Amino acid sequence: MLDWIARKRDGGRLEPDEVRALVEGVTRGEIPEYQAAAWLMAVYFRGMDAAETASLTDAMIRSGRSLDLSDLGAVAVDKHSTGGVGDKISLVLAPAVAACGGKVPMISGRALGHTGGTRDKLASSPGFDTGLSLEALKRQVQELGFAFGAATADLAPADRILYRLRDATCTVESIPLITSSILSKKAAEGIGGLVLDVKTGSGAFLSDPAAARLLAESMVATGERLGVRTVALLTDMGQPLGRAVGNALEVEEVIEALSGRGPTDVVELTLALGAEMLVLAGVADDVPAARARLARALADGSAKAAFRAAVERQGGDPAAVDDPARLPRARERAEVTSPRAGVVAAIDAKAVGLASHGLGAGRATMEDAIDPAAGIVCRKKIGEAVDAGEPLVECRFADRSRFDAVEGGLRAAFVIADEALPPTSLVLDRVARP
Ligand code: URA
Repeated sequence: MLDWIARKRDGGRLEPDEVRALVEGVTRGEIPEYQAAAWLMAVYFRGMDAAETASLTDAMIRSGRSLDLSDLGAVAVDKHSTGGVGDKISLVLAPAVAACGGKVPMISGRALGHTGGTRDKLASSPGFDTGLSLEALKRQVQELGFAFGAATADLAPADRILYRLRDATCTVESIPLITSSILSKKAAEGIGGLVLDVKTGSGAFLSDPAAARLLAESMVATGERLGVRTVALLTDMGQPLGRAVGNALEVEEVIEALSGRGPTDVVELTLALGAEMLVLAGVADDVPAARARLARALADGSAKAAFRAAVERQGGDPAAVDDPARLPRARERAEVTSPRAGVVAAIDAKAVGLASHGLGAGRATMEDAIDPAAGIVCRKKIGEAVDAGEPLVECRFADRSRFDAVEGGLRAAFVIADEALPPTSLVLDRVARP
């Protein structure tokens, strides 16, 4: 380990068998955490080339079990988002892609920080169980076309250890380490195709567009080296996605989208990401044909039926899919109003995410409970006109003191100008194998 730390410190690279031994040693607890932490810091400063990043990702996959989907009779596909505010796309996308014939073993995480987590959104349907074994996940993908799972302890266990050490040593923000962390968990699902939604802008994990592009390029190169066809879309997180931010509120918006009435940006991103998935799965010949199929699945109720079937199978309340009033509702509501008339020119999406968190929708540590009903409905989005005193957002919460704590931050999150700026695109670019 001393040689490996020194070599990386001095800008060298480790061979694949050395990376494998290092990851095995860390996973088994044979390498002390202080040495693993030193190596992580050396990687942070010196980086890794594409081959070394792929070796690390491969070693992390091999640190645990993988789902074997080779007998599925189809190429399984999944999507990963680097996280955003109001990002409920997975919940619309997985059933929509499955309704078009795709197979999606979707393994998701929980919220931490200002962004939400798919598992917490699903948990707002009382009883919904994402704790499927890998075998149960596979069975459900075979029978329903998709499943909403959670990473089990034996899926890329090295990532859990390395992520905890990165978190404790300020080495999270390293492109090869983020790449290997995300891809090891996704590739262990046994997928043949992966679509990445790499977000940039005020609400994104990487707000700097240049860093987001580097991450997209690194993940596409690594995925392809590991035999997973990988496409990344760089997308704008310069304002919340849709209007709802907060778990049950977002599920309600998901049901709207699955009923053919979703907000334009939610529908657009679902079609853009889903079309790439259907092409990678070999279900559609090209993106325009795939988009048309997905749009039909959202309009004709087949995506909604697939979602209802998964909710029922995973222990949630399928009646809530037809009657969202059954979802948890907050006792209290209050609005934040505009101080002046004009047009919304910008929204600090991260500030909206943090406010939703402050209202009870997020957690400070993984052990905290969240309030599924808490959150924010954006009454105004970028480009929309507003009068003085008109609501910008409506907040839902259980305790007024929580609202009082976030009200000022929410008002400051909205920039009101005299005139609208030219609209920007939601999908900024596409990164794929040359
Ligand atoms: N998400 C992950 O799973 N890993 C990272 O390193 C960063 C974001």
